[in-house]
Amino acid sequence: MIFVGLRIDVDTLRGTCIGVPNLVELLARHQIRATFFFSVGPDNMGRHLWRLMRPAFLVKMLRTGAARLYGWDILMRGTLCPGPVIGKRCPGPIQEAAEAGHEVGLHAWDHHYWQARVERMDQYAVTREIQRGYDLLTDILGRSPNCFAAPSWRVTPEALQALDQFPFRFNSDCRGHSLFRPVVDGRRISHVQVPTTLPTYDELIGLECTAETYNENLLKMIRPDRLNVLTIHAEVEGISRLPLFQDFLHKARQRDIVFEPLGGILSQTKKIVESGICKSAVAGRDGWIACQRGISNQFKSLRKSANDE
Ligand SMILES: [Zn+2]
Repeated sequence: MIFVGLRIDVDTLRGTCIGVPNLVELLARHQIRATFFFSVGPDNMGRHLWRLMRPAFLVKMLRTGAARLYGWDILMRGTLCPGPVIGKRCPGPIQEAAEAGHEVGLHAWDHHYWQARVERMDQYAVTREIQRGYDLLTDILGRSPNCFAAPSWRVTPEALQALDQFPFRFNSDCRGHSLFRPVVDGRRISHVQVPTTLPTYDELIGLECTAETYNENLLKMIRPDRLNVLTIHAEVEGISRLPLFQDFLHKARQRDIVFEPLGGILSQTKKIVESGICKSAVAGRDGWIACQRGISNQFKSLRKSANDE
């Protein structure tokens, strides 16, 4: 039996309204429980996508077939007027995911704002962003969310310290290879990190593989002797790539792969090491992401990072 932590990021109104119900139904059929991370504030993701309009990003848009992958409404959201507040417009699917027994965490108040600005935010500003999302998600659920995943795997020392003030059971803010407690600027962060270990769909497609070979490629990366944490997106695997993800679940079952919410992976893990977090880059993803130290040798410290965006 090979355990895989399954994390579902929900970044947009469309992902919440359409992708989440699709995934809740599919996972129920496969008797799988996962961790959903919800963005509940304004959906300004269209603004984010257009802000990245540089040659490299345009190539990626074409490579991944972005309009088909995400939908035009996502690409335009928040570009002309402030985006709708997702948690107010569409709370039902969030409640349904929780009622179906999935673990529910906070992903963002404003996903676009965090991803574009977190590097320039002090601890107070980050705390305010998290608090707004935390309060609305608590209202929707009738209880507090029990974990957090930073938008686009972007955290800074200030953000980690802000997050530590919230009663999350764990965080999933970076890429990495093992469960760990971060040490930043010589300070121990109390929340354990359950990092994403596997690439996302948009990081592999058109580079390492095509849609036809994608599932086989991904399955080969899942190993019994290491931590496996997969992140999917409600906007992608929950909508345009739903049949592909369904096929992935079938193939995974044949290989004795068992999916768990991230909290389940945490409960199974006896040894939790201490580790630094650094700024890094992954193939197929635009800009920087935070990584557990020791995952590759191209790290810069989170502090020295400055402007590579
Ligand atoms: Zn996200």
